[in-house]
Amino acid sequence: MPASRVVTRAVNDVLALAPRHGEVSLTRLVEAVSDSRGRTIDIAHADLPPGVCGQWRQYSDHDVFLIQRGLPAWDRTLAHELGHLVLGHEGISITQAAQESTELATSDLIGYMLNQRTGCMGPSGEDAEQEAEDFAALLIYRLGRLPSDRSSIVQVRLGEAFG
Ligand SMILES: [Zn+2]
Repeated sequence: MPASRVVTRAVNDVLALAPRHGEVSLTRLVEAVSDSRGRTIDIAHADLPPGVCGQWRQYSDHDVFLIQRGLPAWDRTLAHELGHLVLGHEGISITQAAQESTELATSDLIGYMLNQRTGCMGPSGEDAEQEAEDFAALLIYRLGRLPSDRSSIVQVRLGEAFG
């Protein structure tokens, strides 16, 4: 299924933030999005509940993407969580999450975490999940088709020589 215009535009916007030279990795893109929003985005591996691939935690002054430890396609999950963020999928408030999870209710996270979104890839009836999946698939596809590092390096050297 082709990605929607909203998703395509979001991928274009993120790729437009990519550094002009050097390697453009997914983590570099996350950094670029963080810079453009003026909000830190931390990426961490974590032992999440079984069946969960990733979680986006929204704090008052920064965001955290947690990726399930040992996940084979962690970059896909990272792209998925980034999709939620740039597409403005707010997640659910932490008080609501607490009501649904006794584990979280006893955690001291509640005091300073605003929202969270937890999920995994795969079929889902939720539009936001499908959009994030489409975003991840398109972003990774486009990343794979960027010019090679080598041509970027040559451009930098030429620029230095003639600039
Ligand atoms: Zn999701």
